[in-house]
Amino acid sequence: MPALKWGLIGASDIAATRVIAAIHATGAEVAGVVSGSPERARDFAASHGLPRNTADLDELLDWDIDAVYISSANALHFDQAVRALRAGKHVLCEKPLALGASQAEAMVTLAEETGLVLAANHHLPGSPLHVKARELVAAGAIGTVLSAKVAHAVLLPERLRGWRLGQGIPGSGVIMDITCHDASVLNPLLGAPVAVTALAVRQAGWNTGGQEDAAMTVIRYENDGQAPVLAQTHDSFTVGYAETSLEVHGTDGTIQIIDAMTQDTKGQLILTTGDGTRSVDVDCSEDLYVIGLRAFTAAVEGTGVPAATGRDGLMALKVALAAQESAISGRTVHIN
Ligand code: NDP
Repeated sequence: MPALKWGLIGASDIAATRVIAAIHATGAEVAGVVSGSPERARDFAASHGLPRNTADLDELLDWDIDAVYISSANALHFDQAVRALRAGKHVLCEKPLALGASQAEAMVTLAEETGLVLAANHHLPGSPLHVKARELVAAGAIGTVLSAKVAHAVLLPERLRGWRLGQGIPGSGVIMDITCHDASVLNPLLGAPVAVTALAVRQAGWNTGGQEDAAMTVIRYENDGQAPVLAQTHDSFTVGYAETSLEVHGTDGTIQIIDAMTQDTKGQLILTTGDGTRSVDVDCSEDLYVIGLRAFTAAVEGTGVPAATGRDGLMALKVALAAQESAISGRTVHIN
């Protein structure tokens, strides 16, 4: 199959810093970009050597492209994805897939109806560290899973302290930004998330936007015929000196991943069982976004599945939405 031709929807930081390079690394072409602003579209195309730019999504969808990568403002993802799918384009959409679960559900249904690939650009589930953790769990290396703990407390880089902190901006806040990523890792590992309780606060002096910048969440997972599993997450924009990690505890052992949640990980996976503690070899040399783009390309070619399918993106969103609702209401929120 010839290399994919991509259109970019959104002149974003993540496209500029990660995804354009990842697309190129798969041997694919980027035809151009659409932005809400003609000037930003033009400047972005010039900075990244993209042949075309436009401020009109319909124009981009008329170009000779196979797939779009959506990294616009979160409030635009749903409408843009639906328009792209209706135009016959495969869609790699940034997380959160949409602002509401029913929107994300509609995106998934439309992709299924049209036979096109819809994937969420969660970069962590495809990480070799998390793939290995899932393999170990599936192989029974730690027995029956009981609980998991994610530490994903980081310091938000200054250049990203815009819409993420804006109270009233749809899709802003640490839960939609980071808890959503945690859920993309925990769901395929632990099963069906059914209940979520969260607390969120504002901590940073530099956070003038008003939105919560730190949250702790507890998620209950249930699987047929098994004891419930509890997962706990600590997500923050305000912690500058901590390492991220994931721990998974089972009846017969514990998996510990150090540097588990970062974009560039040298991560280490440690397995402790009755036989002792050992480091499990995992090759972390490949860029996580390249892994995601490769998996997406394989899905388009019919030879693989995305690292995070549209449905995975929907389930991650459901957990984040439940956490957000819980943090506001002070109650446990149940997920259907
Ligand atoms: P940016 O703020 O860089 O870009 C978001 C949108 O804002 C752009 O698409 C652009 O919209 C608009 N924009 C960009 N620069 C300006 C500006 N100077 N003035 C006004 N508007 C501007 O966001 P991010 O790259 O941080 O995030 C984009 C998406 O990617 C989000 O959905 C986010 O959740 C997701 N993300 C995912 C990550 C991952 O690892 N999977 C990591 C980081 C972000 P337009 O071009 O339409 O005008």
